[in-house]
Amino acid sequence: MKTLKSSLIILGSVGLLFLGACGKGDQTSDTNTTPPPPAASQPASSAPAATSAAKGANGGQVVNSGAYYLEFVPEKEATGTHLDLYLQKGDKKEPVPDAKVTAQVQLPNGKQQTLALKYDPEGKHYAVVFPGKEPGQYPVKVNADINGEKVDGRFTFTQ
Ligand SMILES: [Zn+2]
Repeated sequence: MKTLKSSLIILGSVGLLFLGACGKGDQTSDTNTTPPPPAASQPASSAPAATSAAKGANGGQVVNSGAYYLEFVPEKEATGTHLDLYLQKGDKKEPVPDAKVTAQVQLPNGKQQTLALKYDPEGKHYAVVFPGKEPGQYPVKVNADINGEKVDGRFTFTQ
């Protein structure tokens, strides 16, 4: 009985030593070699996602999808967030005025809200006001239907 107890204690302290060593090792590798974790908050989707590095002509988030160029520009307003989407085609980036554009917004409570964007001929972009006020990060999937041709992109806005 006595020997069993003491060997358990020895095992225990060896375990602690190992934990201590592991902890130290992890800390060193964290600061040196571990790459930053991938963005986990994005919903699983095959749609191309905007990268924060790319800034569009209007200061927004950019996704290129085939011949199309999507630029998403969120703007905070008193009643919510004004969402602008520039949908352009080709190297000349000509505005595409006749698409059906919707934005699927993921709310902080996990629910989704789909908004239809209207084309503004003067501003040459699609727009809608997202009425939510709850602060947080909102992933958005924008779907554009251009005469049956489907284009989409993922963006985020914060409010
Ligand atoms: Zn606008």
